[in-house]
Amino acid sequence: MRVELGERSYDICIGDGWLPQLTQFLSFIPHTSEIIMITDQNVFDLYGPRTLEILQSAGYKVEAAVIAGGESCKNLDTVASLYKQMISQGLDRKSTVVALGGGIVGDIAGFAAATYMRGIGYIQIPTTVLAQVDSSVGGKTGVNLSQGKNLVGAFYQPGLVFVDVAFIDTLLEREYLTGLAEVIKYGIIWDKDFFIYLEDHMDKIKSRDSECLMHIVTRCCEIKAEIVSQDEKESGMRGLLNLGHTFGHAFEAMTNYEKFTHGEAVAIGMIYAARLAHHLELISSLDLNRITDLIKGFGLPIHFGSLDSQEVVVQMRKDKKSVGGKIQVVLPTAIGRSQMYDDMSESKLASILAADFSS
Ligand code: NAD
Repeated sequence: MRVELGERSYDICIGDGWLPQLTQFLSFIPHTSEIIMITDQNVFDLYGPRTLEILQSAGYKVEAAVIAGGESCKNLDTVASLYKQMISQGLDRKSTVVALGGGIVGDIAGFAAATYMRGIGYIQIPTTVLAQVDSSVGGKTGVNLSQGKNLVGAFYQPGLVFVDVAFIDTLLEREYLTGLAEVIKYGIIWDKDFFIYLEDHMDKIKSRDSECLMHIVTRCCEIKAEIVSQDEKESGMRGLLNLGHTFGHAFEAMTNYEKFTHGEAVAIGMIYAARLAHHLELISSLDLNRITDLIKGFGLPIHFGSLDSQEVVVQMRKDKKSVGGKIQVVLPTAIGRSQMYDDMSESKLASILAADFSS
């Protein structure tokens, strides 16, 4: 499918077990182009040599840059070490970055591509569910600062997103389930039928049925492509994709990025957003319960535990989610419908959290 963004348009190609066909989609990269394949250690061990061989046998000059992986390496030090390797490999403005990995590799590699020599081409080969259904599409790139997540970055679209759902086979169970949080998000914010599909196919999805995976990844990418095509730089509708993230990023920071994966924090965040919507009488009890049941049914956490409401608000402010003392949060209003809610003061949110969400 195509992400329509004028001269920055690109294709998302989705298949099952088709990594060997990758180079058929790279005709826009000249064979004289130098490629740096950025990946993390786990992904390199599983897929690095094979991917290098596929690229090399099509005639590309390619070297791998292997980062440690994990949220703790998503920082400017890692980007600086990549620039060093890019310079020593002799990459120029016609060179290409290949991001092979999950959301962390994709965000870092995309940012390195966006900034090296003021921007060179890059392609995304996402290998986690989260990256296949969300982070590889839409051009949000960046890294964390010690003060907060994703505080430095750029909107920079890839030239291609090449998805092979067969990568999902080797994901650890926890990483697989964590990606499903972002999948559920699309059902809640955008597509009631898709939400029902997830309810109806829970067991098959949990067992990674490949037909279900193809359907899920395709539908999520369709929705993301539609949203991004209409609002590339998040001045409106794209903000809906942050459902669960306003709380989720706060929960990740409050636990030093150690207790929860990103998707787990988003899962709890979606529950808290739905509970807040219910408190504000924006969503029915029935829909709140369906959202809770689906998230719980996929084995994702639904409680943060004991909550310091002031700390949540402080973290949201750091996470760019507070403007002029008012919190911006996406709230579901029904299954398949959501809205940006930006009419709540920090103090009101803190008092609702203290009264209703303290445990
Ligand atoms: P990740 O990149 O850390 O991958 C999770 C783990 O799975 C890692 O240990 C990785 O080595 C391993 N892994 C990756 N592919 C594998 C495979 N096929 N088989 C076995 N192991 C594999 O984490 P993630 O959940 O993919 O991404 C989280 C990041 O994505 C966060 O930093 C978040 O901020 C970012 N994100 C970005 C966007 C965006 O639009 N840019 C959207 C959502 C999330």
